[in-house]
Amino acid sequence: MANIPHILLIYTGGTIGMVKDYKTGALRTFNFNELLKHIPEINQLNCSIESVSFKKPIDSSNMNPENWVKLAEIIEVNYNKFDGFVVLHGSDTMSYTSSAISFMFENLSKPIIFTGSQLPIGHLRTDAKENLITAIEIASLKENGKPIVSEVCLYFEYKLYRANRTTKINAEHFEAFTSPNFPPLGESGVHLKFSKQLLIQPKSNEKLKVRKELNNNIVILKIFPGITKTVVENIFSIKGLKSIIIETYGSGNAPTEKWFIQLLTKAIENGLYIVNVTQCIGGSVILGQYETSECLKKIGIISGNDITTESALAKLMYLLGEKIPKSKFKSVFETALRGEMSLNH
Ligand code: ASP
Repeated sequence: MANIPHILLIYTGGTIGMVKDYKTGALRTFNFNELLKHIPEINQLNCSIESVSFKKPIDSSNMNPENWVKLAEIIEVNYNKFDGFVVLHGSDTMSYTSSAISFMFENLSKPIIFTGSQLPIGHLRTDAKENLITAIEIASLKENGKPIVSEVCLYFEYKLYRANRTTKINAEHFEAFTSPNFPPLGESGVHLKFSKQLLIQPKSNEKLKVRKELNNNIVILKIFPGITKTVVENIFSIKGLKSIIIETYGSGNAPTEKWFIQLLTKAIENGLYIVNVTQCIGGSVILGQYETSECLKKIGIISGNDITTESALAKLMYLLGEKIPKSKFKSVFETALRGEMSLNH
């Protein structure tokens, strides 16, 4: 018993533990202990499991930075006691939360695996059981006494992803997530297989740091044909705003109209950090590849490379909270800190 892995299961809410409210027909969260009753199979796993639940489990649409800190603190206070962590979370914002947790935990050396489901655990055709059982198994696997996975991951429908590379792409299919710019870290079939060369290796001797200062004075602006000067002007002049993520076209292209470039230039001069991410599901921002992104490069826009919008948002909240000096912010953002972006663009 002493040598089997100890796993902490953290229930934040989400469909996985929801029941139908027969009065309204809507799904609502319910008691976590009820959830465990539906999966007696987890007792057969070769690990010991303790569980903790948010006092009031939430639909993940209600997730926010305060809840991310709450979750981080649960993991932090239990870090030495457990070998791995499984976080049950609604799928709607799972990519945001898991990206944030990946930035908040520096020098992580244990697995934190997020999972959830498209159908509640009590449902006959539920995807929850496989997701949960395999996530626990992944969190408990070791090789030569060390965890196989020691980063923040998202496990869903037979695939293990680096969490900060994921995005939710489907509200209907069991295969709800994808990792458009980075291959899965593992796959579950008859055997559990890992792409070990892709896994982040923990830095030995480096102490865990949990970063809990998050700054959410950020806006995401999706560029669209016909966007008006008034809209952009008003967004850029929001009081207290620190950063803007611009979702551009293709490989980072945006209108070259004078008013648009002038507003961007002024915003950057006034100290706003502007990050360019592509609104395409896959691929990368390559500033200067087209004329339509050349001026963005010249005025000092930050390249999001192939980061997802979810991950860019989490990274910005974390870096703004870290109070990185202005002169370094661009280069720090453009550096991969937790495997969230590829090199060489
Ligand atoms: N609305 C739910 C949530 O994100 C959906 C899910 O759990 O998959 O909490």
